Amino acid sequence: SKAKRSADSFVLYQQGQDENYQRQLHIIGIFEESMADGSMYLEYQPKVNLNSGQCTEAEALLRWQDKELGFISPEEFIQLAELSGNIRAVTNWVIEEVIKQIILWQAKGLSLRVSVNISVDDLLDKGFRFIVRSLLEKYSINPRCLSFEITESVIMSDPELAVESMNIFKDLGISIAIDDFGTGYSSLSYLKKVPASELKIDKSFVIDFDNNEEDRMIVETSVELAHSFGMKVVAEGVETESCLQQLKTFGCDLGQGYFFTRALRANDFEAWCEKFNSNTVLTD
Ligand code: C2E
Ligand code: MG
Ligand code: MG
Ligand code: MG
Repeated sequence: SKAKRSADSFVLYQQGQDENYQRQLHIIGIFEESMADGSMYLEYQPKVNLNSGQCTEAEALLRWQDKELGFISPEEFIQLAELSGNIRAVTNWVIEEVIKQIILWQAKGLSLRVSVNISVDDLLDKGFRFIVRSLLEKYSINPRCLSFEITESVIMSDPELAVESMNIFKDLGISIAIDDFGTGYSSLSYLKKVPASELKIDKSFVIDFDNNEEDRMIVETSVELAHSFGMKVVAEGVETESCLQQLKTFGCDLGQGYFFTRALRANDFEAWCEKFNSNTVLTD
């Protein structure tokens, strides 16, 4: 019976694999329509300037609420978009949506820099540069309102081409942030060459900050390192007031996390921002 049990669990395992495979195929098949029909949409999470206490930047985060499948997490569908070659279309769509949103906010007197997450295929595709440039021209927005977040691991997948692309975006006026810093394996010598103006410390070093001395040391050292390269530092995963206070003593420039708020739909973000910026929450 022991053999039978393991045979049964093998079948179950295969069925599970098969279901997952079907789900993945299904997701890949509906990317295009989901961008068009509103089931894919953006939320915005504030990046708060820790010196002024004002929300001056936001990160655009993609959400997908499907009629049949329900909420699909970006961790799942971004990876599938990358595997299936859909990511280029997704990123183009995200950038255009963000530009339209920036323009709407500017018309209401809300001036923000919004960052977009860029995948490896975007960065290494030379056609992407032309699309970015033509979108900037089409909407004639100030490129300083836009920034690109690029993870350490993406940069390390082809450091030379990555740096070349980043320089082109920088020349266009788009600022670059290194995302998820600390989780990849970038050598310090490459960090020196990367034309980024912001370093985002991965939330895994920040979330458990209050109880973890090593994490605090890593963050404090990263802030110093980034500053010595002339970069600003953003800490993601700020969940508590005490974490925020520590980050301020380390000289961290910006904070992002649930302590302020989760990512919000554009309208809710706007209301949150107006309220937050009119209170002086972060007085020393
Ligand atoms: P990321 O770029 O590192 O984004 C930060 C993630 O941390 C977001 O997860 C955000 O909701 C989450 N987060 C923010 N503050 C806190 C906090 O205080 N505590 C905790 N536990 N989490 C916090 P999300 O939205 O699930 O996105 C996951 C990842 O998916 C992103 O990581 C990014 O790599 C990718 N992603 C999301 N949107 C896009 C997109 O438009 N394009 C691409 N290429 N990737 C995207
Ligand atoms: Mg990011
Ligand atoms: Mg990140
Ligand atoms: Mg991440």
